[in-house]
Amino acid sequence: MQEFRVLMGHDTPGYASIGVYRDHGGYEALRKALHQMTPTEVTDEVYWSGLRGRGGAGFCTGMKWRFIDRSSPVPKYVVVNADEGEPGTFKDRFIMEHVPHRVIEGILIACHAVGAAKAYIYLRGELALCRERLLTAIEEARRAGLLGASVLGSDFDVDIALHRGAGAYICGEETALLDSLEGRRAQPRLKPPFPAQAGLYGCPTVVNNIETLANVPLIVEHGAEWYRSVGAPNPAVDAAARTGGPPSGFGPDSPGTRVFSVSGKLNNPGVFEVPMGTPMSALFGLAGGLREGLELRAVIPGGSSAPMIGPEHFEIPLTFQTLADAGSMLGSGAVVFIDDQTCPVDLALNLVEFYEHESCGKCTPCREGGQWMRKVIQRIAHGQCREGDLELVRHVSDGIKGKCFCALGESIPAPVNSSLALFPEHWQYHIEHGSCPIGAKEYSHVG
Ligand code: SF4
Repeated sequence: MQEFRVLMGHDTPGYASIGVYRDHGGYEALRKALHQMTPTEVTDEVYWSGLRGRGGAGFCTGMKWRFIDRSSPVPKYVVVNADEGEPGTFKDRFIMEHVPHRVIEGILIACHAVGAAKAYIYLRGELALCRERLLTAIEEARRAGLLGASVLGSDFDVDIALHRGAGAYICGEETALLDSLEGRRAQPRLKPPFPAQAGLYGCPTVVNNIETLANVPLIVEHGAEWYRSVGAPNPAVDAAARTGGPPSGFGPDSPGTRVFSVSGKLNNPGVFEVPMGTPMSALFGLAGGLREGLELRAVIPGGSSAPMIGPEHFEIPLTFQTLADAGSMLGSGAVVFIDDQTCPVDLALNLVEFYEHESCGKCTPCREGGQWMRKVIQRIAHGQCREGDLELVRHVSDGIKGKCFCALGESIPAPVNSSLALFPEHWQYHIEHGSCPIGAKEYSHVG
């Protein structure tokens, strides 16, 4: 059921070392990119593969690379977003720990494609083992002549620096990440200009996610057609690729595999790589189902900022489009199965507390609305509900939705609204009885 591409070799002893990685064909894609392909050809291959960003937004990677003006006289940069911090998301960590050289190879190919001589990996500060593995991989690559001047005997010079973040979720937003990297307080920038035009130090910059870049060596080695041979590709894009246009890569196109982090009260939670379009129920099966005595009530399909969906979507194929059609999103690839012993009010409160804490404070709807929302839901969850609190939650939600400067603020109402829509009777019970109907928690009603 699993199909290892990004994670290929992760279960081979020593695969995190350069020797074993090269024994299994590692860095041959880089050699091919440098000696047999022009940067434009590399970009085109990635473009026609239909690879879409794995960090959350799902933007076409090749198109992002095409936006970079290689003829510009100023430096270009590749910045790697390794600031994985969405609740429920831990697949990039797994990739960095187990196949670090595939990540490094992807970064080097990206640098070659966009004309960058310097790449920065912005790593979430808490990921100590990832730091260790990546630093070792960078050093091994440097000693092997894969980093530095004249890589593999070509005229390509490149270097990679690793930067540890200080643990702010907002640094996963690409422009806040760039501000942080430049030594400033991390707050999102107004767009346009986009990073491709004016990114790091005001220069053209590609910002890509770890899983996205780990796909790149495979695409260069085997070709776009191979990449599109699994998953849920859009036939219209395949037809366009054969004729060379018109460009597409969006809409229902979801080729390749996806690495999912799967959590909840499951028998076998963990990281799984499956073809795009795999039904959610199959992922549930790989994770061993819920522990005995528990029943499925809802699923968060793409990290905590993705609205929850009900079990009626259990057979849904996991693609960008199908999740959007179901009112949610594939997001960061974090699937959280919610059981019947988890209070949906508590869950909403927990997530709102997270987003309130992580708000960068730049805009009012998020900064003030998050606090307000948390306080009201806290009253409901803790049996201290006041008259009109439910209406107040909806009112504050409306005041946040669509009015925030970045996606973090927009994530505040998402779990609340979906919890309200899926479990109205549960919220009502909390309000009327001051306690939780599933008996997980009892509170005295003082409101
Ligand atoms: Fe900052 Fe929140 Fe506004 Fe984003 S939405 S800019 S995190 S205050």
